[in-house]
Formats: sequence, structure tokens, C-alpha cells
Amino acid sequence: MSGSVGKCNICKDVYTATSIEIETDLAIFVCADCIETAKDNFIWLCITCGKAYIKPKELVINKVKDPELKKAYMLCQDMQLIQGIECIACHPERVVEYMEMQCAGTEC
Ligand SMILES: [Zn+2]
Ligand SMILES: [Zn+2]
Repeated sequence: MSGSVGKCNICKDVYTATSIEIETDLAIFVCADCIETAKDNFIWLCITCGKAYIKPKELVINKVKDPELKKAYMLCQDMQLIQGIECIACHPERVVEYMEMQCAGTEC
């Protein structure tokens, strides 16, 4: 995939050559600005409709009540994390579950 350029999947505004893998075999383009955004925000990208959700890390961590989950999110606080999810519009009942799984797993 080296040398390929595509539109940033997060802001859908900028063309970039930077791509990252958010799931096995699923790479997305992310521009420098959005990578910068990922330092202070958790970014979720719906792998079904392509909509990006950006939430301040502090806000997410403050809202989490489950102590285990809170710990998992706090471990991710210093990482630039973009996670593939299925969003509320695509899967109303699954999104919370997804967000929990993604970060509470062994990968973080
Ligand atoms: Zn971008
Ligand atoms: Zn969606």
C-alpha cells in the first residue's frame, strides 16, 4: 500500500498518504490533523457507514462508571487510538458493548 494516497477517513477533508490499520485487514487514511486530534480525543469510526465519532478522552473517562472499564480507558489515555465500531445509527444496541470490548481487551 506504500505510495497510495486517499482522503482522510476521519475528517473527510484532506488527502493524505498516512494510513493505519484499525482492524485486521482494515486500513484507513488518517491525516496529520486527525492524528493530532487523537491525542486528546478517542476516535471511533463506524466501519459500516464510515461516520467518525470524536469524543474528548476526559469526558469519556469521567462518564464511565465501571471501574474496570475506567481503568482500561485510562490506560489508553496516552495512546492515539482510532477504533473501528458499528455506530449507533447502524447498530443501536451494540455500540456500547463495542466500545467496552475494544478498549477493555488485551490489546491496550
Ligand atoms: Zn483528517
Ligand atoms: Zn454507522
